[in-house]
Amino acid sequence: MLTKQDIIAEAKRLKFADIGFTDAKPFDSQKEYLLAHQDGYGWAEAIGLGLLAGTDPKNILPQAKSIIVLLESYFEESYPLPLEHHFGRCYLDDDRVTKDGLALKIKSFRKLLQLNGIDSKVPFDLPHRLSAARAGLGTFGKNSLFYARRVALNSSFVFPIAIVIDAEYTPDESSIAIECPEWCRNTCVAACPTRALKGDGKIDPLRCISFLTYYGAGLTPLELREPMGMYIYGCDRCQNVCPRNIPWMVRKKPQNPRVLAKESNFDLSCLLHMDKLYFEQKVWPHMFYMSVDDIWRWKMNVARAMGNSLNPAYVKELILAFGENSDERVRCMIAWALGRIGNQEAMTGLRKFFDNSEGIEKKEIKQAIIAIEKRKV
Ligand code: SF4
Ligand code: SF4
Repeated sequence: MLTKQDIIAEAKRLKFADIGFTDAKPFDSQKEYLLAHQDGYGWAEAIGLGLLAGTDPKNILPQAKSIIVLLESYFEESYPLPLEHHFGRCYLDDDRVTKDGLALKIKSFRKLLQLNGIDSKVPFDLPHRLSAARAGLGTFGKNSLFYARRVALNSSFVFPIAIVIDAEYTPDESSIAIECPEWCRNTCVAACPTRALKGDGKIDPLRCISFLTYYGAGLTPLELREPMGMYIYGCDRCQNVCPRNIPWMVRKKPQNPRVLAKESNFDLSCLLHMDKLYFEQKVWPHMFYMSVDDIWRWKMNVARAMGNSLNPAYVKELILAFGENSDERVRCMIAWALGRIGNQEAMTGLRKFFDNSEGIEKKEIKQAIIAIEKRKV
């Protein structure tokens, strides 16, 4: 029989940052919370994420007896700054599709279990952060994120990987708690641009920029365009402002060579003009929450980020993209972005588009023209 020490040694050998054990009891409090907040989480059930089913490990593995939680410290290497400003860090080196990094480590870890007659499942719908806290690996922040207790300088830059197994191991002592210093005075809550954080460690997922960038329905409402800022896929603002993260953020790190190699693929101009083939080959394997049918949302997000950059160098690109795109949502956001940058070239482009547009598109172009004119007064 594989001992707990054997398993811990294998996690260390594979360079996981930490490991903990918990039992396979259902996560009743999570189930109750989800049921009481279906207005905020119903979408997840609708797209098949199965969060409710995931609150009982026995739905994942009927003979479940324990959960092993591995912690991966994902911000050990630095990323190019422009990428950090447009994408959530946790997505920059995400191998869930390419399966050439973390996935290989998880596979090796499970191999040891399998060789010793232990069945395991790695569900995506189990409450991973709660499992990690129940396994004593860390605590929560008021930004609803999980903070490590023993590694990564206690920061939130860790992924918990929960593995349900059919063997019983002594659970570790739970560390479920919100552990924010009093003096912080809810910095993350105040800093959240879309007021998604409720202040009690809970989040309204439908207001979070991360959700809005990959699942937001239709044209982004006007009142959210500026607050969503430069983020295109994900958001790290509540992690960046958190004093619990600063020690890890300021620590010198070597550059991540894999992310550096693909940096140019995520250049804003390339993303604005990309076709389906470009998307499928260079973007989707790394950031896959949106399918090729949602390429319009990528472009709409990029146009918004360009507008919020206030960079006149993007005006030409935006004007060109207006002609390339037939999608009304993309064209409306391009008009808004031109209005936000607001130089003479943008105004000339908008006036030209105005004559050949109709409906909501014409309305957006008119609003953009008015926005520029107002700033001139
Ligand atoms: S990720 Fe961004 S939008 Fe979401 S809660 Fe944090 S700061 Fe707010
Ligand atoms: S910013 Fe402050 S309140 Fe928010 S998670 Fe960090 S320590 Fe807690």
